[in-house]
Amino acid sequence: MTSANIFTFLPLIAASLYTLLLVVSFVRRSQDEQQTRWFLLFLIASIVWEFLLFFETDLALPPNFPLKALLGGTLFLGMTTAVYVDWPKQKQWFLVGFAAILLAITADIFLPNQVLPIPIANATPTYHGVVSFLVWFLLTSFVFFKTWRDYRTTQFPWHANRLLFWAIGLFITFIGEAFHFFLWTGLTLTGQIIRFIGVLALAYAVTSYRIFDVRTRFQRGTAVFIITIISALPMLGAIWIVEQIGAVQNWETGSIILVTLLVIAIGFFLYQPFHKVVQRIINRYFIGEGFDTNQVLRNYSQATSRILDVNQLSLVILGTISELLETNHGTLLLITKEEEGWNVEVLPGIGQVPREAAFFNANSLFINALTQQHQPLLQYDLDFNRHYANLTDEERHWLKTMAMDVYVPITGGDDLEGLIAIGPKQSGIPYQPDELNLVQTLADQAVIALQNARLYSELEMQNEQINRLNIDLVDQNERLEIMDQVKSDFITIASHELRTPLTQVKGYADILAAMNDENILSQEQTREIVGHINRATTQLEGLISAMLDASQLDVDGMQLTFMESSVDTIVRLAADPLRNAIAERRIKFERVGLDGIPPLHADFKRMVQSFTNLLGNAIKYTPDHGTIRVSARMVPVQMGEPEHVEIVVADTGIGIDPKYHELIFEKFFRIGDPQLHSTGSTKFKGAGPGLGLPIAKGVIEAHHGRIWVESIGEDEKRLPGSEFHILLPLRPPEGRPSQYLPEKYKDHPAFAI
Ligand code: ADP
Repeated sequence: MTSANIFTFLPLIAASLYTLLLVVSFVRRSQDEQQTRWFLLFLIASIVWEFLLFFETDLALPPNFPLKALLGGTLFLGMTTAVYVDWPKQKQWFLVGFAAILLAITADIFLPNQVLPIPIANATPTYHGVVSFLVWFLLTSFVFFKTWRDYRTTQFPWHANRLLFWAIGLFITFIGEAFHFFLWTGLTLTGQIIRFIGVLALAYAVTSYRIFDVRTRFQRGTAVFIITIISALPMLGAIWIVEQIGAVQNWETGSIILVTLLVIAIGFFLYQPFHKVVQRIINRYFIGEGFDTNQVLRNYSQATSRILDVNQLSLVILGTISELLETNHGTLLLITKEEEGWNVEVLPGIGQVPREAAFFNANSLFINALTQQHQPLLQYDLDFNRHYANLTDEERHWLKTMAMDVYVPITGGDDLEGLIAIGPKQSGIPYQPDELNLVQTLADQAVIALQNARLYSELEMQNEQINRLNIDLVDQNERLEIMDQVKSDFITIASHELRTPLTQVKGYADILAAMNDENILSQEQTREIVGHINRATTQLEGLISAMLDASQLDVDGMQLTFMESSVDTIVRLAADPLRNAIAERRIKFERVGLDGIPPLHADFKRMVQSFTNLLGNAIKYTPDHGTIRVSARMVPVQMGEPEHVEIVVADTGIGIDPKYHELIFEKFFRIGDPQLHSTGSTKFKGAGPGLGLPIAKGVIEAHHGRIWVESIGEDEKRLPGSEFHILLPLRPPEGRPSQYLPEKYKDHPAFAI
């Protein structure tokens, strides 16, 4: 050491300052442990670097040796940044940086003191010096620009602010380091000071999770600076003019001082109002116009007190907030406490807000914090404050999809009623404490309105439910009335239906007896009369067996004998007894796709009976020249479901009013006058006893199938037709409930409960 001046001791002073910083950072460490560890390593490297600088000449260290400590420091700072900014592939970056430093060391060893052919300025740079510089330059540029890019792409203002602050800290540190490469003492001193300021800023960022709002502070600082300068200008100008005039006019010094003092005195009085005007103008330009909080609150409370709808309330609250704070993204969340946690319902807000509801556990950190703290919670805190480190993955995921910046609790008593969620400001400037206070005030004012609106919407919902129940009751009542009518009609129908053939039997028997008494009975006549009697008894028999079948439905269901039966054969046999009627009435009978259906496992006779009933009805309710079409197709089913076939009996007849679609499957129900009778006739609109469909339904359901009708209504002129749909499992599943339906039919209106 030659001369012991301040510059010589500079590295020692810097080393002790870094040591101080090391101690403080260690004591105040509260953030991410890994990040703190890297940063402490960086500080240690800085201290080592300073010591090496100090002892460089004494110890006769190889040239550029201290630089290696600086490079090590840069690598550690890069890793601190990687953890701070949360880069992927951190290990890889470390290895790349490490390799670059090794390269610089290799250059030191293998290219000692080879001077570059071109001198830069007055210095004579060496090869290995240039390599070290390049490695430093690349490492620092990479770390800085990557941080800067992350800052530019971060959408949350507080997150961006944190990155901006870090980037500025890095920049100052690196600029300070850069000064060291110019080996001039003045620059080295400046470089040390600048670097220390940068490192100080980085230490602040590492040890405190919330960083002051850089942009706003800068704006306000600039504003204050400009205001002070502009406010002082007139006074300075006036003094200058006085001096000038004094000089030109050759005033005595005494009078110049006097006039100057006078100007200062006048300026003193004028300064205050002028300063205010300047302040207002500059603030408006820099910070934006302030809002009249009282006016806003007055309008807001007036608007919210009138609203009885939660959705509208959400829009008013968010409308006010967006007007005040210039955000275009936000909504109201309804919180409902349940036994096991909280239900969060997202109301329509402003901007694109996902409407997915969420459920949070009773011990949800997020909701509990909002309930207890009763103040706005920033997404930034949720991400960086250690208190929220244990948020569950579901909570984090939901928060991420919401993409909000602040959550403001609306609390009534001890309960959380809702949350106002607000997205980032359009300007990208973070929310300031006074703005957050204002939003909390708005939230507090909204409590009563929210409670009212919730009560009201609950009332409305109940009202709607009561209305629905009322409508159901009216429907049921109507149905009961009809069923009651059916019951009384039953006697009429049954007696009618039974009496007609019986009267015939009795009449012909009487004729037979009378003719026999008078001995005028020829063989031919006897055969004819007996034939009539036979037909009547057959009809009677059919009717009674239908009644028996129908009564069996109620008792213990049907005894079925299952066998492989082809749908085509069933339909053919069912149509057999109706062949004459079809021909007589000139009805077109079509069968479509029946032979492509695999055989059913079913009770053949019962199936034929059911289809005879359906076809008989189709003939009865279709005018002459109409068409009856029976079609079948396999129903696509999902994995694991039993295979089903759907058979449709469609006619071009008079159709059925939808209000009777269920009733026609009730025993003894028939549409129209119960006095009508034609006892099983196939004439157009020939009435029957009302047993055909109930029996068909009983049979189909005993096969675990379903039957329903589709028709747009009854109209004898336009003939809309009816379609009877039969859904049957190819093989009735054992032990499954008979209500079983393929997935595809779950929402079918015919099965609506
Ligand atoms: P019925 O013995 O009277 O035919 P059903 O139980 O077979 O008794 O039918 C009940 C009622 O359903 C019938 O009275 C008729 O009003 C109506 N109906 C049944 N099938 C049809 C159809 N294809 N077209 C129009 N109405 C029908």
